[in-house]
Amino acid sequence: MIDLLLLGTGGMMPMPDRWLSSLLVRIEGDLVLFDCGEGTQIPWQRFGWGFRRVGTICLSHLHADHVAGIPGLLHAIANAGRQEPVTVFGPPGTVHIVQALREIAPVLGFELRIREIDDGVRFSLSGGAVASVLRGDHALPVLCYRIDIPRARRFLVERAQLDGVPQHLWSALQKGHDVAEGGRAFRAVDYQGTERKGLSIGFVTDTRPVPNLPGFLNGVDLLICEGTYGDSGEWEKALERKHMTFAEAATLARDAHAGALWLTHFSPAVKNPYDWLHNATAVFPNSTIGYSGLEATLAFPLDQSEENSAS
Ligand SMILES: [Zn+2]
Ligand SMILES: [Zn+2]
Repeated sequence: MIDLLLLGTGGMMPMPDRWLSSLLVRIEGDLVLFDCGEGTQIPWQRFGWGFRRVGTICLSHLHADHVAGIPGLLHAIANAGRQEPVTVFGPPGTVHIVQALREIAPVLGFELRIREIDDGVRFSLSGGAVASVLRGDHALPVLCYRIDIPRARRFLVERAQLDGVPQHLWSALQKGHDVAEGGRAFRAVDYQGTERKGLSIGFVTDTRPVPNLPGFLNGVDLLICEGTYGDSGEWEKALERKHMTFAEAATLARDAHAGALWLTHFSPAVKNPYDWLHNATAVFPNSTIGYSGLEATLAFPLDQSEENSAS
């Protein structure tokens, strides 16, 4: 299961009624933050997800509207009593920028680790989740993120019962571990059925829709994607400033066979994003205008094997 909370949806600068674009993801109780512009901690406080469980901060790139909130956030995490390390992942240049921001938050009760990553890198998160990144195309090096939570194969309950496998061993077998008890050995491979689809999300902002993005995002259940300009007539501006229009974000969602699209990172000039939603839904019907407080929970779908599954 994975919970998502959109904290803000603005690009360039925070506005009185729009916090900067930022996403919180919760996997098995641990929090992953995507981008941290000025003021990110304020909507976070309103929605009550707490700061102590933040172990990972993923930065798309190093423009101020995506990183300037880091010092304040580090203080908020420290004040919440966190002692375990926090790791910041970001594109080349992240060490320099985050260390500079850290200068004004020198005393923290936890270790801050900074990892520069690039195209093709994968790293682990809580709950068996795996993050992967792809280079986008923006004025600064930018990373697009994908998170996958794999799902165990179906467990062959009937066979386990037939073989008299003790029930307390089923979970280990389903996870792929061979087990033995009472002089009998059981091989995991004998009790694993068909593969089952996991859960996945994509977080894409401040980039043009580069050609390999749809493949990278293929089949994500939810795509959180920038739509800096609602009006398709501003396509040239999007091209020049290396952002996307709503229609381009929707095209990406469609080509990636995404399940749903949340639009975010609206230009301050886009006063009411709903005025332009039709430009997205015309291409990808399951498009939603993001707003601070938009939440979703993605859970493994019930399938035929569910009632017979060990977990
Ligand atoms: Zn931005
Ligand atoms: Zn940017």
